Amino acid sequence: MKVNDFRKNAHDVVNWMADYLETVEEQRVRAQVEPGSISAMLPLEAPQNGEDFDDIFGDFRDLIVPGMTHWQHPSFFAYFNANSSPPSVLAEMLTATLGAQCMSWETSPAATELEQRVMEWLRKMVGLPDGFVGSIQDSASTATFEALIVARERATGFAIADQGLSGHPSPMAYCSEEAHSSVEKAVRLLGWGRANLRKIQVDENFAMDTHALERAILEDRGAGRPPACVVATLGTTGVGGIDSIRKIGQVTQRHGVWLHVDAAWAGSALVLPEFRHMIDGIDAVDSLVLNPHKWLFTNFDCTVLFVRDVESFLRVFSLTPEYLRTRRDAQVTNYRDWGIQLGRRFRALKLWFVLRSYGTVGLQRMLREHIRLATELAAKISAVEDFELVVPPSISLFCFRYARRGCSTEEIDDLNERLLQAVNDSGRLYVTHTHVKGRFVIRFVVGQTYTEQKHVDRAWRTLCDTARSL
Ligand SMILES: *Cc1c(COP(=O)(O)O)cnc(C)c1O
Repeated sequence: MKVNDFRKNAHDVVNWMADYLETVEEQRVRAQVEPGSISAMLPLEAPQNGEDFDDIFGDFRDLIVPGMTHWQHPSFFAYFNANSSPPSVLAEMLTATLGAQCMSWETSPAATELEQRVMEWLRKMVGLPDGFVGSIQDSASTATFEALIVARERATGFAIADQGLSGHPSPMAYCSEEAHSSVEKAVRLLGWGRANLRKIQVDENFAMDTHALERAILEDRGAGRPPACVVATLGTTGVGGIDSIRKIGQVTQRHGVWLHVDAAWAGSALVLPEFRHMIDGIDAVDSLVLNPHKWLFTNFDCTVLFVRDVESFLRVFSLTPEYLRTRRDAQVTNYRDWGIQLGRRFRALKLWFVLRSYGTVGLQRMLREHIRLATELAAKISAVEDFELVVPPSISLFCFRYARRGCSTEEIDDLNERLLQAVNDSGRLYVTHTHVKGRFVIRFVVGQTYTEQKHVDRAWRTLCDTARSL
Protein backbone atom coordinates (compact mmCIF):
# COMPACT_ATOMS: atom_id res chain seq x y z
CA MET A 1 0.00 0.00 0.00
CA LYS A 2 1.44 3.31 -1.08
CA VAL A 3 1.37 6.18 1.38
CA ASN A 4 -1.18 7.99 -0.74
CA ASP A 5 -3.50 5.01 -0.65
CA PHE A 6 -2.86 4.75 3.06
CA ARG A 7 -4.03 8.35 3.46
CA LYS A 8 -7.31 7.67 1.68
CA ASN A 9 -7.90 4.34 3.41
CA ALA A 10 -7.08 5.80 6.79
CA HIS A 11 -9.76 8.44 6.31
CA ASP A 12 -12.26 5.72 5.43
CA VAL A 13 -11.25 3.77 8.50
CA VAL A 14 -11.53 6.78 10.79
CA ASN A 15 -14.98 7.55 9.41
CA TRP A 16 -16.00 3.99 10.13
CA MET A 17 -14.57 4.27 13.65
CA ALA A 18 -16.57 7.41 14.42
CA ASP A 19 -19.73 5.84 12.96
CA TYR A 20 -19.14 2.75 15.04
CA LEU A 21 -18.83 4.70 18.26
CA GLU A 22 -21.91 6.73 17.36
CA THR A 23 -24.04 3.69 16.68
CA VAL A 24 -22.51 0.96 18.83
CA GLU A 25 -25.58 0.86 21.03
CA GLU A 26 -27.68 -0.35 18.12
CA GLN A 27 -25.57 -3.52 18.08
CA ARG A 28 -26.39 -6.52 20.20
CA VAL A 29 -23.90 -6.49 23.04
CA ARG A 30 -22.77 -10.11 23.15
CA ALA A 31 -22.02 -11.68 19.79
CA GLN A 32 -24.91 -13.87 18.68
CA VAL A 33 -22.95 -16.44 16.67
CA GLU A 34 -22.34 -20.16 16.99
CA PRO A 35 -18.86 -21.65 17.44
CA GLY A 36 -17.16 -22.17 14.08
CA SER A 37 -19.50 -19.87 12.16
CA ILE A 38 -16.87 -17.20 11.59
CA SER A 39 -14.07 -19.55 10.64
CA ALA A 40 -16.43 -21.23 8.17
CA MET A 41 -16.50 -17.97 6.21
CA LEU A 42 -12.73 -17.54 6.08
CA PRO A 43 -10.59 -19.02 3.30
CA LEU A 44 -8.44 -21.97 4.35
CA GLU A 45 -5.33 -20.57 2.67
CA ALA A 46 -3.70 -17.14 2.73
CA PRO A 47 -4.00 -15.36 -0.63
CA GLN A 48 -1.18 -15.77 -3.16
CA ASN A 49 -1.57 -12.26 -4.46
CA GLY A 50 -2.30 -9.09 -2.58
CA GLU A 51 -5.92 -8.01 -2.34
CA ASP A 52 -7.53 -4.58 -2.51
CA PHE A 53 -7.92 -2.76 0.74
CA ASP A 54 -11.60 -2.14 -0.05
CA ASP A 55 -12.16 -5.91 -0.16
CA ILE A 56 -10.28 -6.48 3.08
CA PHE A 57 -12.09 -3.67 4.85
CA GLY A 58 -15.42 -4.87 3.44
CA ASP A 59 -14.81 -8.32 4.91
CA PHE A 60 -13.92 -6.73 8.22
CA ARG A 61 -17.31 -5.02 8.25
CA ASP A 62 -19.29 -7.99 6.93
CA LEU A 63 -17.59 -11.01 8.49
CA ILE A 64 -15.71 -9.83 11.53
CA VAL A 65 -17.79 -7.11 13.16
CA PRO A 66 -20.94 -9.28 13.35
CA GLY A 67 -18.88 -11.86 15.22
CA MET A 68 -17.63 -9.41 17.81
CA THR A 69 -18.86 -8.87 21.34
CA HIS A 70 -19.11 -5.11 21.74
CA TRP A 71 -17.06 -4.15 24.74
CA GLN A 72 -17.59 -0.45 24.08
CA HIS A 73 -21.37 -0.89 24.17
CA PRO A 74 -22.93 1.20 26.94
CA SER A 75 -25.00 -1.81 28.06
CA PHE A 76 -21.94 -3.94 28.75
CA PHE A 77 -22.18 -4.85 32.45
CA ALA A 78 -20.30 -8.17 32.31
CA TYR A 79 -16.93 -9.33 33.72
CA PHE A 80 -15.00 -6.14 34.37
CA ASN A 81 -15.09 -3.65 31.54
CA ALA A 82 -12.16 -3.26 29.22
CA ASN A 83 -13.07 0.30 28.54
CA SER A 84 -11.60 2.73 26.10
CA SER A 85 -12.16 6.31 25.04
CA PRO A 86 -11.70 8.43 21.92
CA PRO A 87 -8.39 10.00 23.05
CA SER A 88 -7.02 6.56 23.85
CA VAL A 89 -7.97 5.25 20.41
CA LEU A 90 -6.32 8.23 18.73
CA ALA A 91 -3.12 7.59 20.65
CA GLU A 92 -3.23 3.91 19.68
CA MET A 93 -3.34 4.94 16.04
CA LEU A 94 -0.27 7.11 16.53
CA THR A 95 1.52 4.35 18.45
CA ALA A 96 0.85 1.96 15.59
CA THR A 97 2.05 4.51 13.08
CA LEU A 98 5.30 5.16 14.90
CA GLY A 99 5.67 1.41 15.30
CA ALA A 100 8.43 1.94 17.81
CA GLN A 101 9.90 -0.83 19.88
CA CYS A 102 10.46 0.74 23.25
CA MET A 103 12.67 -1.77 25.01
CA SER A 104 15.46 0.65 25.92
CA TRP A 105 15.83 4.37 26.41
CA GLU A 106 17.90 4.60 23.24
CA THR A 107 15.37 2.76 21.10
CA SER A 108 12.85 5.54 21.87
CA PRO A 109 13.93 8.10 24.45
CA ALA A 110 10.61 9.95 24.42
CA ALA A 111 8.69 6.75 25.07
CA THR A 112 10.78 5.97 28.13
CA GLU A 113 10.72 9.47 29.52
CA LEU A 114 7.00 9.91 28.89
CA GLU A 115 6.35 6.60 30.63
CA GLN A 116 8.36 7.80 33.62
CA ARG A 117 6.43 11.05 33.83
CA VAL A 118 3.01 9.50 33.30
CA MET A 119 3.76 6.90 35.97
CA GLU A 120 4.52 9.72 38.38
CA TRP A 121 1.28 11.47 37.46
CA LEU A 122 -0.69 8.30 38.02
CA ARG A 123 1.11 7.47 41.26
CA LYS A 124 0.05 10.81 42.70
CA MET A 125 -3.46 10.57 41.24
CA VAL A 126 -4.11 7.29 43.04
CA GLY A 127 -2.51 8.46 46.27
CA LEU A 128 0.50 6.15 46.42
CA PRO A 129 3.31 7.59 48.52
CA ASP A 130 6.76 8.59 47.30
CA GLY A 131 9.00 5.62 46.83
CA PHE A 132 6.66 3.71 44.53
CA VAL A 133 7.83 3.61 40.94
CA GLY A 134 5.59 2.45 38.12
CA SER A 135 5.99 0.79 34.74
CA ILE A 136 3.48 -0.28 32.14
CA GLN A 137 3.06 -4.01 31.62
CA ASP A 138 0.80 -5.93 29.28
CA SER A 139 -1.60 -7.37 31.83
CA ALA A 140 -2.22 -7.77 35.53
CA SER A 141 -1.50 -11.48 35.10
CA THR A 142 2.00 -10.66 33.88
CA ALA A 143 2.55 -8.03 36.58
CA THR A 144 1.53 -10.42 39.36
CA PHE A 145 3.74 -13.09 37.82
CA GLU A 146 6.67 -10.66 37.89
CA ALA A 147 6.03 -9.60 41.48
CA LEU A 148 5.85 -13.24 42.57
CA ILE A 149 9.16 -14.06 40.89
CA VAL A 150 10.90 -11.19 42.62
CA ALA A 151 9.27 -12.00 45.97
CA ARG A 152 10.42 -15.59 45.66
CA GLU A 153 13.93 -14.56 44.75
CA ARG A 154 14.12 -12.15 47.64
CA ALA A 155 12.88 -14.81 50.07
CA THR A 156 15.58 -17.22 48.94
CA GLY A 157 18.51 -14.82 48.71
CA PHE A 158 18.23 -14.69 44.88
CA ALA A 159 19.36 -18.31 44.78
CA ILE A 160 16.67 -19.83 42.59
CA ALA A 161 17.46 -17.65 39.56
CA ASP A 162 21.00 -19.00 39.76
CA GLN A 163 20.62 -22.55 40.89
CA GLY A 164 17.07 -23.52 40.08
CA LEU A 165 14.49 -24.82 42.49
CA SER A 166 16.02 -28.13 43.46
CA GLY A 167 17.85 -28.22 46.74
CA HIS A 168 15.83 -25.33 48.17
CA PRO A 169 12.89 -25.71 50.50
CA SER A 170 9.90 -24.52 48.54
CA PRO A 171 8.89 -20.96 49.42
CA MET A 172 5.19 -20.38 50.06
CA ALA A 173 2.68 -17.95 48.58
CA TYR A 174 -0.68 -16.91 50.01
CA CYS A 175 -3.83 -15.34 48.66
CA SER A 176 -7.50 -15.48 49.59
CA GLU A 177 -9.83 -18.09 48.18
CA GLU A 178 -11.49 -15.24 46.24
CA ALA A 179 -8.22 -14.11 44.61
CA HIS A 180 -7.91 -14.00 40.83
CA SER A 181 -6.86 -17.12 38.95
CA SER A 182 -3.76 -15.27 37.73
CA VAL A 183 -2.16 -15.84 41.14
CA GLU A 184 -2.46 -19.60 40.90
CA LYS A 185 -1.44 -19.48 37.25
CA ALA A 186 1.74 -17.58 38.16
CA VAL A 187 2.59 -20.05 40.90
CA ARG A 188 2.08 -22.98 38.54
CA LEU A 189 4.09 -21.42 35.72
CA LEU A 190 6.92 -20.44 38.03
CA GLY A 191 7.56 -24.09 38.75
CA TRP A 192 6.64 -23.29 42.28
CA GLY A 193 3.76 -25.72 42.37
CA ARG A 194 0.13 -25.18 43.21
CA ALA A 195 0.65 -27.07 46.48
CA ASN A 196 2.81 -24.19 47.67
CA LEU A 197 0.04 -21.64 47.25
CA ARG A 198 -2.22 -21.39 50.27
CA LYS A 199 -5.71 -20.09 49.61
CA ILE A 200 -6.82 -18.43 52.82
CA GLN A 201 -10.48 -18.37 53.80
CA VAL A 202 -12.44 -15.12 53.64
CA ASP A 203 -14.67 -13.49 56.24
CA GLU A 204 -18.33 -12.57 55.80
CA ASN A 205 -17.31 -9.53 53.73
CA PHE A 206 -15.22 -11.64 51.35
CA ALA A 207 -11.97 -10.20 52.74
CA MET A 208 -9.03 -12.42 53.63
CA ASP A 209 -9.15 -13.74 57.19
CA THR A 210 -5.86 -12.38 58.50
CA HIS A 211 -5.83 -14.66 61.56
CA ALA A 212 -5.99 -17.65 59.26
CA LEU A 213 -3.23 -16.07 57.17
CA GLU A 214 -0.95 -15.70 60.15
CA ARG A 215 -1.64 -19.25 61.33
CA ALA A 216 -0.70 -20.56 57.89
CA ILE A 217 2.50 -18.51 57.82
CA LEU A 218 3.51 -19.72 61.27
CA GLU A 219 2.77 -23.31 60.38
CA ASP A 220 4.83 -23.09 57.18
CA ARG A 221 7.71 -21.39 58.89
CA GLY A 222 7.66 -24.07 61.60
CA ALA A 223 7.79 -26.77 58.95
CA GLY A 224 10.78 -25.18 57.18
CA ARG A 225 8.81 -23.78 54.26
CA PRO A 226 9.80 -20.10 53.95
CA PRO A 227 6.81 -17.78 53.44
CA ALA A 228 7.65 -15.61 50.42
CA CYS A 229 4.66 -13.60 49.30
CA VAL A 230 1.11 -12.66 50.18
CA VAL A 231 -1.13 -11.43 47.40
CA ALA A 232 -3.88 -9.19 48.75
CA THR A 233 -6.77 -8.22 46.50
CA LEU A 234 -8.60 -4.93 46.28
CA GLY A 235 -11.78 -5.82 44.43
CA THR A 236 -11.96 -9.56 43.93
CA THR A 237 -13.24 -10.53 40.53
CA GLY A 238 -16.28 -12.48 41.66
CA VAL A 239 -17.87 -10.21 44.23
CA GLY A 240 -15.52 -7.22 44.69
CA GLY A 241 -14.15 -8.27 48.10
CA ILE A 242 -11.59 -5.89 49.54
CA ASP A 243 -8.78 -7.32 51.64
CA SER A 244 -7.48 -5.20 54.49
CA ILE A 245 -4.06 -3.96 53.48
CA ARG A 246 -3.47 -2.67 56.99
CA LYS A 247 -4.17 -6.00 58.70
CA ILE A 248 -2.39 -8.11 56.11
CA GLY A 249 0.54 -5.68 56.17
CA GLN A 250 0.92 -6.14 59.91
CA VAL A 251 1.24 -9.87 59.34
CA THR A 252 3.64 -9.63 56.40
CA GLN A 253 5.84 -7.15 58.24
CA ARG A 254 5.98 -9.30 61.33
CA HIS A 255 7.18 -12.21 59.23
CA GLY A 256 9.26 -10.40 56.62
CA VAL A 257 7.04 -11.47 53.72
CA TRP A 258 6.52 -9.62 50.43
CA LEU A 259 3.10 -8.00 50.07
CA HIS A 260 1.76 -7.72 46.54
CA VAL A 261 -1.60 -6.00 45.98
CA ASP A 262 -3.80 -7.01 43.07
CA ALA A 263 -5.98 -3.97 42.47
CA ALA A 264 -6.48 -4.73 38.79
CA TRP A 265 -10.03 -3.38 38.68
CA ALA A 266 -10.56 -1.48 41.95
CA GLY A 267 -7.24 0.35 41.69
CA SER A 268 -8.82 2.87 39.32
CA ALA A 269 -11.20 3.92 42.11
CA LEU A 270 -8.18 5.17 44.05
CA VAL A 271 -8.41 8.25 41.82
CA LEU A 272 -11.31 9.10 44.15
CA PRO A 273 -10.18 10.31 47.58
CA GLU A 274 -13.25 8.68 49.15
CA PHE A 275 -11.81 5.25 48.23
CA ARG A 276 -8.26 5.84 49.46
CA HIS A 277 -9.12 4.01 52.67
CA MET A 278 -8.54 0.87 50.56
CA ILE A 279 -4.80 1.58 50.71
CA ASP A 280 -4.73 2.44 54.36
CA GLY A 281 -1.55 0.70 55.52
CA ILE A 282 0.18 1.10 52.14
CA ASP A 283 3.57 1.45 53.82
CA ALA A 284 3.72 -2.32 54.18
CA VAL A 285 3.11 -2.91 50.47
CA ASP A 286 5.95 -3.97 48.15
CA SER A 287 4.09 -3.94 44.84
CA LEU A 288 0.67 -3.04 43.52
CA VAL A 289 -0.94 -3.63 40.15
CA LEU A 290 -3.85 -1.76 38.59
CA ASN A 291 -5.32 -1.84 35.12
CA PRO A 292 -6.07 1.45 33.38
CA HIS A 293 -7.36 -0.88 30.64
CA LYS A 294 -10.20 -1.90 32.91
CA TRP A 295 -11.65 1.27 34.33
CA LEU A 296 -9.50 4.21 33.35
CA PHE A 297 -10.67 4.65 29.76
CA THR A 298 -7.41 3.43 28.23
CA ASN A 299 -7.38 0.74 25.57
CA PHE A 300 -6.26 -2.75 26.35
CA ASP A 301 -3.39 -3.35 27.00
CA CYS A 302 -2.28 -1.03 29.75
CA THR A 303 -1.46 -2.43 33.16
CA VAL A 304 0.57 -0.46 35.67
CA LEU A 305 2.83 -2.18 38.16
CA PHE A 306 4.02 0.00 41.02
CA VAL A 307 6.96 -1.34 42.99
CA ARG A 308 9.05 -0.03 45.82
CA ASP A 309 12.27 -1.99 45.48
CA VAL A 310 13.18 -1.47 41.84
CA GLU A 311 16.66 -2.85 42.52
CA SER A 312 15.27 -6.31 43.22
CA PHE A 313 13.33 -6.24 39.96
CA LEU A 314 16.45 -5.22 38.06
CA ARG A 315 18.41 -7.95 39.76
CA VAL A 316 15.91 -10.54 38.57
CA PHE A 317 15.02 -9.21 35.12
CA SER A 318 18.07 -7.34 33.91
CA LEU A 319 20.17 -9.36 31.54
CA THR A 320 22.11 -7.40 28.99
CA PRO A 321 23.72 -9.30 26.15
CA GLU A 322 26.39 -7.41 24.28
CA TYR A 323 24.13 -6.52 21.36
CA LEU A 324 21.76 -4.61 23.66
CA ARG A 325 24.41 -2.55 25.43
CA THR A 326 24.38 1.21 24.83
CA ARG A 327 26.73 3.90 26.09
CA ARG A 328 23.89 5.56 28.03
CA ASP A 329 22.87 2.53 30.06
CA ALA A 330 24.25 3.91 33.31
CA GLN A 331 22.29 7.16 32.97
CA VAL A 332 18.88 5.98 31.82
CA THR A 333 15.98 3.67 32.53
CA ASN A 334 15.72 0.66 30.26
CA TYR A 335 12.24 -0.71 30.86
CA ARG A 336 13.17 -4.07 29.36
CA ASP A 337 14.95 -4.66 32.69
CA TRP A 338 11.73 -4.23 34.68
CA GLY A 339 9.81 -7.25 33.53
CA ILE A 340 9.43 -10.19 31.19
CA GLN A 341 8.99 -8.49 27.84
CA LEU A 342 12.05 -7.37 25.94
CA GLY A 343 10.15 -5.66 23.14
CA ARG A 344 7.64 -3.15 24.42
CA ARG A 345 4.89 -1.14 22.76
CA PHE A 346 4.64 2.59 23.29
CA ARG A 347 1.75 2.34 25.74
CA ALA A 348 2.43 5.47 27.77
CA LEU A 349 1.15 7.59 24.90
CA LYS A 350 -2.49 6.53 25.24
CA LEU A 351 -2.45 6.93 29.01
CA TRP A 352 -0.98 10.41 28.53
CA PHE A 353 -3.71 11.32 26.04
CA VAL A 354 -6.38 10.04 28.41
CA LEU A 355 -5.05 11.73 31.55
CA ARG A 356 -4.68 15.01 29.70
CA SER A 357 -8.02 14.84 27.86
CA TYR A 358 -10.11 14.21 30.96
CA GLY A 359 -7.91 15.56 33.70
CA THR A 360 -8.18 14.22 37.22
CA VAL A 361 -11.49 15.99 37.73
CA GLY A 362 -13.01 14.58 34.55
CA LEU A 363 -11.94 11.03 35.44
CA GLN A 364 -13.34 11.43 38.94
CA ARG A 365 -16.65 12.62 37.54
CA MET A 366 -16.92 9.58 35.25
CA LEU A 367 -16.03 7.08 37.97
CA ARG A 368 -18.42 8.66 40.46
CA GLU A 369 -21.21 8.51 37.91
CA HIS A 370 -20.60 4.78 37.37
CA ILE A 371 -20.61 4.21 41.11
CA ARG A 372 -23.80 6.22 41.54
CA LEU A 373 -25.53 4.24 38.79
CA ALA A 374 -24.50 0.92 40.36
CA THR A 375 -25.50 2.00 43.86
CA GLU A 376 -28.92 3.24 42.76
CA LEU A 377 -29.73 0.13 40.81
CA ALA A 378 -28.66 -2.07 43.70
CA ALA A 379 -30.98 -0.12 46.00
CA LYS A 380 -33.83 -0.56 43.54
CA ILE A 381 -33.20 -4.29 43.32
CA SER A 382 -33.18 -4.72 47.06
CA ALA A 383 -36.52 -2.93 47.27
CA VAL A 384 -38.47 -5.25 44.96
CA GLU A 385 -40.16 -8.36 46.27
CA ASP A 386 -39.03 -10.98 43.80
CA PHE A 387 -35.36 -9.96 43.46
CA GLU A 388 -32.64 -10.28 46.06
CA LEU A 389 -29.47 -8.25 46.41
CA VAL A 390 -26.98 -10.96 47.38
CA VAL A 391 -23.80 -8.87 47.56
CA PRO A 392 -24.23 -5.11 48.07
CA PRO A 393 -22.18 -2.78 45.89
CA SER A 394 -18.45 -2.90 46.21
CA ILE A 395 -17.53 0.31 44.38
CA SER A 396 -19.52 -0.33 41.18
CA LEU A 397 -20.04 -4.10 41.30
CA PHE A 398 -22.88 -5.94 42.98
CA CYS A 399 -24.50 -9.37 42.75
CA PHE A 400 -28.19 -10.22 42.75
CA ARG A 401 -30.62 -12.92 41.83
CA TYR A 402 -34.19 -13.34 40.85
CA ALA A 403 -35.88 -15.02 43.81
CA ARG A 404 -39.38 -15.95 42.80
CA ARG A 405 -41.50 -16.71 45.85
CA GLY A 406 -42.24 -20.33 46.56
CA CYS A 407 -39.29 -21.73 44.59
CA SER A 408 -36.64 -24.02 46.04
CA THR A 409 -32.98 -22.92 45.99
CA GLU A 410 -32.32 -25.32 43.10
CA GLU A 411 -35.22 -23.85 41.15
CA ILE A 412 -33.91 -20.37 41.86
CA ASP A 413 -30.44 -21.29 40.61
CA ASP A 414 -32.00 -22.69 37.49
CA LEU A 415 -34.21 -19.62 36.96
CA ASN A 416 -31.20 -17.33 37.25
CA GLU A 417 -29.14 -19.35 34.80
CA ARG A 418 -32.02 -19.13 32.35
CA LEU A 419 -32.44 -15.42 33.05
CA LEU A 420 -28.76 -14.80 32.33
CA GLN A 421 -28.93 -16.73 29.07
CA ALA A 422 -32.12 -15.04 27.98
CA VAL A 423 -30.96 -11.47 28.54
CA ASN A 424 -27.58 -12.13 26.95
CA ASP A 425 -29.26 -13.83 23.99
CA SER A 426 -31.47 -10.78 23.58
CA GLY A 427 -28.33 -8.70 22.97
CA ARG A 428 -29.88 -5.81 24.89
CA LEU A 429 -27.35 -6.06 27.71
CA TYR A 430 -24.52 -8.30 28.77
CA VAL A 431 -24.05 -9.61 32.31
CA THR A 432 -22.08 -12.55 33.71
CA HIS A 433 -22.42 -14.69 36.82
CA THR A 434 -20.52 -16.09 39.75
CA HIS A 435 -21.22 -18.36 42.69
CA VAL A 436 -21.73 -16.96 46.16
CA LYS A 437 -21.79 -19.60 48.88
CA GLY A 438 -22.56 -22.17 46.22
CA ARG A 439 -25.50 -20.26 44.77
CA PHE A 440 -25.73 -18.89 41.25
CA VAL A 441 -25.81 -15.08 41.20
CA ILE A 442 -25.71 -12.47 38.46
CA ARG A 443 -22.91 -9.90 38.64
CA PHE A 444 -23.56 -6.35 37.54
CA VAL A 445 -20.65 -3.97 36.93
CA VAL A 446 -21.03 -0.39 35.76
CA GLY A 447 -17.83 0.78 34.12
CA GLN A 448 -18.30 1.34 30.42
CA THR A 449 -17.21 4.75 29.16
CA TYR A 450 -20.52 5.50 27.46
CA THR A 451 -22.93 4.08 30.05
CA GLU A 452 -25.64 6.51 31.17
CA GLN A 453 -28.71 6.38 33.37
CA LYS A 454 -30.93 5.31 30.48
CA HIS A 455 -28.79 2.23 29.78
CA VAL A 456 -28.95 1.09 33.38
CA ASP A 457 -32.69 1.75 33.51
CA ARG A 458 -33.20 -0.19 30.30
CA ALA A 459 -31.08 -3.07 31.61
CA TRP A 460 -33.16 -3.27 34.76
CA ARG A 461 -36.43 -3.24 32.80
CA THR A 462 -35.14 -6.03 30.57
CA LEU A 463 -34.04 -8.07 33.58
CA CYS A 464 -37.42 -7.64 35.30
CA ASP A 465 -39.53 -8.37 32.24
CA THR A 466 -37.42 -11.36 31.25
CA ALA A 467 -37.32 -12.83 34.76
CA ARG A 468 -41.07 -12.53 35.25
CA SER A 469 -41.81 -14.14 31.91
CA LEU A 470 -39.67 -17.23 32.58
C1 LIG B 1 -9.06 -8.70 35.63
C2 LIG B 1 -8.29 -9.10 36.81
C3 LIG B 1 -7.02 -9.67 36.67
C4 LIG B 1 -6.42 -10.03 35.34
O1 LIG B 1 -6.18 -8.93 34.57
P1 LIG B 1 -5.42 -9.07 33.17
O2 LIG B 1 -4.89 -7.71 32.93
O3 LIG B 1 -6.48 -9.48 32.19
O4 LIG B 1 -4.37 -10.10 33.31
C5 LIG B 1 -6.32 -9.95 37.82
N1 LIG B 1 -6.81 -9.69 39.03
C6 LIG B 1 -8.03 -9.15 39.21
C7 LIG B 1 -8.55 -8.88 40.58
C8 LIG B 1 -8.81 -8.84 38.10
O5 LIG B 1 -10.04 -8.32 38.25
